[in-house]
Amino acid sequence: MARVLVLLGITKVRITGGEPLLRKGVVDFVRELRKLEPQGLKPQSVDAASGTSGTRALPGVAAEGNFQGLKPNSLQSAGDTAESVPCRSSPQGLNPASLNSSNGTTKVVPSHETLDIAITTNGHLLADVAQPLKAAGLNRVTVSMDAVDADQFTRITRVPGGFDHVLAGMRAARDAGLGPVKVNCVLMRGFNEDQIVPFGIFAREEGVVVRFIEFMPLEEDRVWAPSTVVPLEEILQRMGEYRPLLEIPHSRSETARRYRFDDGIGEIGIIAPVSHPFCGHCSRIRITSDGKIRTCLFSVWDHDLHALMRRGASDDELADFIVGVVQKKEERHHIGEPDFVPASRTMVHIGG
Ligand code: SF4
Repeated sequence: MARVLVLLGITKVRITGGEPLLRKGVVDFVRELRKLEPQGLKPQSVDAASGTSGTRALPGVAAEGNFQGLKPNSLQSAGDTAESVPCRSSPQGLNPASLNSSNGTTKVVPSHETLDIAITTNGHLLADVAQPLKAAGLNRVTVSMDAVDADQFTRITRVPGGFDHVLAGMRAARDAGLGPVKVNCVLMRGFNEDQIVPFGIFAREEGVVVRFIEFMPLEEDRVWAPSTVVPLEEILQRMGEYRPLLEIPHSRSETARRYRFDDGIGEIGIIAPVSHPFCGHCSRIRITSDGKIRTCLFSVWDHDLHALMRRGASDDELADFIVGVVQKKEERHHIGEPDFVPASRTMVHIGG
């Protein structure tokens, strides 16, 4: 799956969970992904008239030229069973010649971009595998932590002594060069909003980028309500009372708004999908652990890529299927609106 997606122009792969480090062979999996790098192809230009990019490139994939469509150039392998499934079709992948459009407006050329490979983990097992993952070709690590106070962390995770393991894992990743290491914290009113300033101090002391994420209605027990969200402005205000922040310019495709403390030490980010939705720039698709494509966190249906592979589909057929699915990607979420329909899978089954 990843090979076909990379051939279609995907440039970033994030392995998420569940907990990806629980999977046997995760280091080998990263090593296999890294081999995809030299095969990358991408459209050099798009048809300015139609806004499309030839027959096989994902619509709107990072390209030079006019762009009028979606921008899926990031793949998340979701669920803790991120695996490479053997494909019974050609080992060479797509035939580059088949990617050329007939009117000559789309050229496919070898991409010299490096495939960006990242992992999101709870960090408990990271200390032992950070270096092997780096050696296998991993670029970056994001550690999920909902508290930086050791006792509160234990209460949330129900893992005695867990904070020390996660801290050791985060430091091992940083020391292995898997950085900048990011620490993701989902803030929930009445649960952990008291951790905002401690996380700011943590970012400064540990040299990691702490990113606060607004709570979204993707949880198992359906406790979300607008009042449970700690919005961007409140995070900024609370952190600003500790120390002034300066916004760092960021690219449109970045989900996080970035801020540096006024003395230049420490960076935080805020991902605000509820108060400041960024769906218009969303470039992500997800592959679940059972081989389904999800085009949005809030999708109400999946697209069964694995079933197609089991029936022996060729790479070209898989590519056609993927392109067709991506063309139907959702425009935006409807959080907090009367017509909001919960996603068909909750976050724990989707992956971050
Ligand atoms: S809600 Fe869906 S469309 Fe919006 S940013 Fe998230 S995944 Fe993308």
